[in-house]
Amino acid sequence: MTLSSVLSPAMGTLYVVATPIGNLDDISARALRILREVALIAAEDTRHSARLMQHFGINTPLAACHEHNEREQGSHFIARLQAGGDVALISDAGTPLISDPGYHLVRNARAAGVKVVPVPGPSALIAALSAAGLPSDRFIFEGFLPAKTAGRRARLEAVKEEPRTLIFYEAPHRILECLEDMQAVFGDERPALLARELTKTFETLKGLPLAELAAWVAADSNQQRGECVVLVAGWQAPEGEDALSVEAQRVLDLLLKEMPLKRAAALAAEITGVRKNLLYQAALERQKDA
Ligand code: SAM
Repeated sequence: MTLSSVLSPAMGTLYVVATPIGNLDDISARALRILREVALIAAEDTRHSARLMQHFGINTPLAACHEHNEREQGSHFIARLQAGGDVALISDAGTPLISDPGYHLVRNARAAGVKVVPVPGPSALIAALSAAGLPSDRFIFEGFLPAKTAGRRARLEAVKEEPRTLIFYEAPHRILECLEDMQAVFGDERPALLARELTKTFETLKGLPLAELAAWVAADSNQQRGECVVLVAGWQAPEGEDALSVEAQRVLDLLLKEMPLKRAAALAAEITGVRKNLLYQAALERQKDA
């Protein structure tokens, strides 16, 4: 034991602990041990988490750490950690920080030199992706879309030509309008999947092209209840060579602002590796539309 370790006790560890998204059996043995052993549990909603703790016979004190108090209350948790106490961060369901509070606490803890340890477990997006049968080697998680149609459509437009599988969280009362907007923006035929009530009694995974999926949800109000994740297949360039990638279009548009059409097409071809003639034709089209 060194003199400095006697004078300043070792800092505690912040454990970021995943909890079930429905089925309580999904909590890990390690999560239970850590929740029992830490000095304090920072919870999104203490009343909600008290029920979970009661179920597992855990008596560790709970303190609120939600999006409204996370910043000011954060310093309280950091002080506790610096004084040597271990703290576990949990949210109402699934993995903290994934569309849930905790980001500020984790960031500040790391900045203060506190060790932060993930205790992995359930997360709705990963559970849905693992059973969706859509490409899973590369994907993007968009979290919750804006609540109003204009904002939602703008966000969808921004990822319309994203080639990776898209994953969204959505509230049940907006699921139908969300699917209808997806159909309008991504097209009727784009493969999609609705993962509802994962790990719970009425768990449903329905994979259909967007137009059929929206119609199926519209026809059955039960599908507009519970918690849901929507997955949409990534954009695929149409067959043949006539489609320009979003990136090639972006490069071409930037260059067209700066130089004559022929030069812009040639330079864009060099930068992107796309055939010069294809870019030249696209530039001509743009000139016609302008
Ligand atoms: N931290 C959580 C996670 O790791 O998945 C997500 C929390 S976020 C506030 C809640 C959203 O996650 C819900 O609106 C829903 O989109 C999704 N979700 C959570 N549990 C789910 C479940 N059992 N089935 C389907 N979606 C779920």
